[in-house]
Parts: sequence; C-alpha cells; structure tokens
Amino acid sequence: MAPASATPLGAYRRLSYWFDSLPGPLESRPALDGDLEVDVAVVGAGYTGLWTAYYLARSDPGLKVAVLERETSGFGASGRNGGWCSAMFATSSAKLVRLYGAKAEESLRNELVRTVDEVGAVAAEEGIDCHYRKGGQVMLARGAAQLLRAHREIEEARSLGIGAEDLRLLNATEAGELAGASRVLGALYTPHCASIHPARLARGLAEAAERRGVRIFEQTAALEMSPGRVVTTRGTVRAGAVVRATEGFSAGMPGAHRDVIPFYSLMIATEPIAADMLEEIGLRSGETFADLRHLVIYGQRTADGRLAFGGRGAPYHFGSRIEPRFDADRRMHEHIRKTLVELFPVLGGIGVTHRWGGPLGIARDWHPSVGFDRATGLGWAGGYVGDGVAVTNLAGRTLAALITGRDEDCTRLCWVGHRSRPWEPEPLRWIGVNTALQAMAVADRSETRSGKESRLAGAMSGLTGG
Ligand SMILES: Cc1cc2nc3c(=O)[nH]c(=O)nc-3n(C[C@H](O)[C@H](O)[C@H](O)COP(=O)(O)OP(=O)(O)OC[C@H]3O[C@@H](n4cnc5c(N)ncnc54)[C@H](O)[C@@H]3O)c2cc1C
Repeated sequence: MAPASATPLGAYRRLSYWFDSLPGPLESRPALDGDLEVDVAVVGAGYTGLWTAYYLARSDPGLKVAVLERETSGFGASGRNGGWCSAMFATSSAKLVRLYGAKAEESLRNELVRTVDEVGAVAAEEGIDCHYRKGGQVMLARGAAQLLRAHREIEEARSLGIGAEDLRLLNATEAGELAGASRVLGALYTPHCASIHPARLARGLAEAAERRGVRIFEQTAALEMSPGRVVTTRGTVRAGAVVRATEGFSAGMPGAHRDVIPFYSLMIATEPIAADMLEEIGLRSGETFADLRHLVIYGQRTADGRLAFGGRGAPYHFGSRIEPRFDADRRMHEHIRKTLVELFPVLGGIGVTHRWGGPLGIARDWHPSVGFDRATGLGWAGGYVGDGVAVTNLAGRTLAALITGRDEDCTRLCWVGHRSRPWEPEPLRWIGVNTALQAMAVADRSETRSGKESRLAGAMSGLTGG
C-alpha cells in the first residue's frame, strides 16, 4: 500500500539542487477531496504523467483529465535528474534491429531526435524557463579501453547508416576543446542533446497542463488501479482511461511488484565555480558530458555556473524498497565527488553544496515501453532506465494519441505495446543486480589501472545501456 505523504512542502527543497533552486515559493496543489469522475485519470505527476495530460488537453480540450500525485509535481526522478534531454534510448540499436528490423529501429531513432527539439519547442511556446540549451553531448574516451569502445560505437553507428552529422569521433585536441578533462584521448559527440533544469521543466509543465484545463491533485496516493477506477487515499476516481505513470516507483503498486526495479542514481552539485576555472572546464555551449566507462556517469554545467554531476553504482535494495534515506549514500556521494575531481582536477578544492538521488525504473529486458490496452482502458509507460527526460515526451504524445484513438506516426513505433518479462523473485533479483553492479565497478577499476580492455567488459555490455 502506498501511504499518503505528510511531507511538509518546504522539505521538498531538499530533494535536489534543482528543487532548491526553483524560483519563488513552492506552491502546493490541493489534494483530491472525495470521489471524482473524469475521462482520463493519470497516476504520477512526473514527466510521463504531465506530458500525457498536456498532450491530451492540447489535442482534445473537451476531455476531463485528472493527475493524481502522492507528493508534489516533479517529486520523482523528474525533479532530480541530470538534465540530459537526449535522443538516447535504453535498448541498444543492435537489439532493436534484431527485435523489430532495421526500418523500425530507424523510425524510432529519428523520432527520438525530433523529440529533443519538441521538448524545447513546447518549453518556448508555453513560457517554461527550464534553461533548455541544445549544446550536444560529449562522451569522453579516457584511457585505451574507452577509446576502443568509442571506435566500436562509431563502427556500429555507420553500419546502421548513422552519419557523422549525428555521431562523430573527436580526436584528443577537439575533445579537450569542448571539455578540459584529464586523460582525454578522444570523444564521441552528438548534437542531439540539450541540457535542462529538470525541476523547472516538471513544475512548468504542470502549470502548462493546468492552463489547458488539466486538474492536478497532490498529496493524493493511488492505492489501487483497475479498469475504470483508481482508489486513492482521498477518494475514488472513475475514468474511461487510467494511466500508470509511476515509473521507478511502480514496484509499490499492487500487481506491479516485479515490472521494474527501482535503481538508484545519485548526484551532487558544486558551489558556483570561479570564471577562470569554468574557462578551463569548457562546456561553453551547454554540452552535457560523461565518459565511456561501464557504470554510467553524467554531468552538465548549470546556468548559474556549477557542475551538476551524477553516477550509478549505489546498491539495489532488497525487495525493490524505496526509502527517502536511500537518496543519501555518504560513500557513493563521496565516490561521485572524487570522480568529478579526477575528471576535472581544477576542481580539487571545490565545495559540494547539494547531494541527492532517486530511483529510476529498469525493466528485466532493459526495454522501455509505452502502451494502452483499449479493452481495459489501462495505459502505462516507463522503464526508461536513465534516459527518460526526452523519451517521456514521446511516451506522453503516444499515450495521448492512443487514448484518443488517433493513428499517428508515434503510435506505430516499435516500442509501443512492448511487454517486458517480470524480474525474478527475491533473493535472486537482489543477488543478480548487485553482482552485476559490482562486476561493472571492478571492470572500470581494472581498466583505469591497466589501461587495457577488461575481459569483463564484453560480458557486462548488456548492463551498460542508458
Ligand atoms: C538521479 C537521476 C538522474 C537521471 N538523469 C537523467 C538524465 O540526465 N537524462 C535522462 O534522460 N534521464 C535521466 N534520469 C531518468 C529520468 O529522470 C526519468 O526517466 C524520468 O524522470 C521518469 O519520469 P516519470 O514521470 O516516468 O517518473 P517520475 O518522475 O519518477 O514520476 C513518478 C511519479 O509518480 C508518483 N507516484 C509514485 N507512486 C504513486 C502513487 N501510488 N500514487 C500517486 N503518485 C505516485 C511519484 O511521487 C512521482 O512523482 C535520471 C534519473 C535519476 C533518478
């Protein structure tokens, strides 16, 4: 059961640097007050739920749409992420080709590229000041093993018909001009990524949806979702269509316990960085950055001149538990700080002002999905791994089209209707996920030490996407 939250509004500031830097007071929305009847009920006010509600209201202003949120809009990963609005998709292109064919893979890839621009276009149109800056994405190759991986990615991209305008290999000098990091031998660069302020996007999107008539109820937890009905802590909502948009939190919903695992990603934000140090770091056009290690790291330079930087590697918690204390992991946060300083040694004495984290959702086959079952009126989207900022927009557009019965290009994409098999029961799930995490950490450490390709790398490649 999902209890209603008693979190005081001000405490949400501590969710992330992004929440803390939202301008003005945090406005709360009313909770549901008794039973309600609507056309569409959406559970979860993160990007998935909000984009779905937004596009529903935009395409059919007469529809009655309600969003039910246990905490506050943007409370989940949407208000805490790294702000990479990228065309990345958690399932590899090679796997998509195997599953659906080359044409289907290409259609999805092209739509994801358009989606990065769509987020920026809606933000501009709706006056959402989310610091959208399309500076592309630089994936540094630091060490021989990473450089080899970069070459392989280019080879694979070319075999799929992806040209240099979409993904190119930079030499050490070109890469160093974009990001003044240590040990850089080269980089992959794609223009299809924007950096954003995640909480500004989530909160602005909630307001944009409301302006179009969507009703958002906060402090309202869904306890049960079934065809035509959502039972909440504040009343029952009857609806022709019900959408589950709880992503990394879905394991807490009855009947969904093994659909996705909540997987913690943790972040830090530095204090504002002096201008001369920023000059050395680069990232002048808002490029997002990472390197090509196995355990994903990610960062961006914020509008107020900090680095917001995160990484995976925090343990998976037995039974898919989600608890506020998991957002703070002293050891992992220190590891992330050290990794940042190792990347940019100029930051040696920099202060860290914010440390946070949150759960993202991973399906057993590492395959995001979106779908709507017309027979039951139940819709869902999620399992984005850690590539959900742009993909949620595509999910929301797709759900809106599916629910209103419109046949559009997006409703014919290969990920629509995909169902992943459930995760193993415990303790197998806990053992498997944490063993894989440790193996990736070992592979990264051994690569750093030896500068050679790790033998473990190939074996673990299925767990490095996203
Ligand atoms: C630290 C971190 C860094 C990340 N970095 C990136 C990045 O740089 N780029 C990228 O593309 N992706 C990134 N991601 C992933 C991305 O943030 C997510 O994929 C995306 O935000 C998912 O949005 P969502 O709306 O589906 O889920 P969420 O934003 O998690 O929203 C789910 C909502 O459901 C609510 N909810 C849960 N249970 C209930 C209930 N019973 N009743 C009512 N409401 C409920 C929650 O309170 C929450 O608000 C990151 C994730 C994390 C955690």
